[in-house]
Amino acid sequence: MPFTPMREFQRNPLIFTGAEGMFYIRADGRRVLDGAAGLWCVNAGHGHPRIVEAIRTAATRLDFVSSFKMTHPDAVTYARRLRDFAPAGLDHVFFVNSGSEAVDSALKIARGYHHARGDAARTKLIGRAKGYHGMGFGGLSVSGIGRYKRGFGPLLADTAHLSLPYDREVMGFSNGQPEEGAHHADELEALLQVQDPTTVAAVIVEPVIGSGGVYPPPKGYLETLRAICDRHGILLVFDEVVTGFGRLGAPFAAQAFGVKPDILTCAKGMTNGAVPMGGVIVANHVYDAFMSGPPDLVELFHGYTYSAHPLACAAGIAVMDVFEETGLVDQAAEISPVWRARTLALKGKPFVADIRTIGLLGLVEIEPRPGEPGARGTACAQFCLEHGVLVRGSGDMLVLSPPLIISQDQIELIMATIEAALENVR
Ligand code: PLP
Repeated sequence: MPFTPMREFQRNPLIFTGAEGMFYIRADGRRVLDGAAGLWCVNAGHGHPRIVEAIRTAATRLDFVSSFKMTHPDAVTYARRLRDFAPAGLDHVFFVNSGSEAVDSALKIARGYHHARGDAARTKLIGRAKGYHGMGFGGLSVSGIGRYKRGFGPLLADTAHLSLPYDREVMGFSNGQPEEGAHHADELEALLQVQDPTTVAAVIVEPVIGSGGVYPPPKGYLETLRAICDRHGILLVFDEVVTGFGRLGAPFAAQAFGVKPDILTCAKGMTNGAVPMGGVIVANHVYDAFMSGPPDLVELFHGYTYSAHPLACAAGIAVMDVFEETGLVDQAAEISPVWRARTLALKGKPFVADIRTIGLLGLVEIEPRPGEPGARGTACAQFCLEHGVLVRGSGDMLVLSPPLIISQDQIELIMATIEAALENVR
């Protein structure tokens, strides 16, 4: 099992047998309020009838078709719907099956773009401290969490990393984007001068760092990264696997922050988690660069057996329908101030070292138990589970990302349960 202490799990397995709306259902029938949207996936809530029905119908119509030199109507429709959902000018979609595949595909597309334009010296990829970009060798190489790299090297050689744009003294407990800290983006210019900017293909960042600890970008930070990339002909990649599909009260973080990347990766919320899928959405100039060779030759030697799988595309179209018809993105935007205020109200509770929140994301950082890093966070998450609320414990961080359909009462229940956990663990 991924990221799971197997022997501990076998002693005390956690098994869910069903899910509905905001809730998981345990084997003994107990309901658990889902404060994690599964794993940042189930933005429209579990078992959405529209999505379930779309998958059922698709399965009876067309079980599988390769995307190598052929396609099917739902693949075309979903690509068009995504184009309309994505920032203007990012009009081309490449389908994959996970966030990790989306990132590795994006990194290859970035290098391929420069190669196609006769600039093959541009191979370096710049990531960021605390960044998480999945578990492929490419994504792992640009990620900024050393623990995940241990034992798996050597990784891609041509990478460098920006530092975390976070200073707790100034930015701790901030609501949304910190006011201070845009100057951290200037570090990219300095790094480029060390690396030689003419050798750099792309900079990849999560607009809001997710798994690494929910770090919203300081105001002006992403704008400066964009300007520096433009100045040096470097592609800017936004990894929106977590921030996409309404999480920040806009379709993608790119729209929420008003900064447009050249390449955008997504997954998770694409199908509401119901069928594995990922996507790489590219700006027109990126697509066009590949379209310059002889028209009878393959432009991109890349792809996967299950790219644009019929069940995933059907689920994706249904997700777009649900978003449009229920106004889910606006709903997330409306409830997010309540969410953020209530999350920040945990300040001052026992062991709370920091809180970071933006959109419908939240993170409570807990002071580690002396000599036992991660133990207190794990105990808090376990307490919450036993009291009917699923929060993701990641070391001493409680990571929160509920389905976007969450109500005010459910927000209260999640936060009250976390409060009780903090009061009760040692
Ligand atoms: N990129 C980001 C920002 C993620 O948060 C994740 C997963 O959480 C991934 C990539 C990898 O996605 P997957 O687990 O679907 O491969």
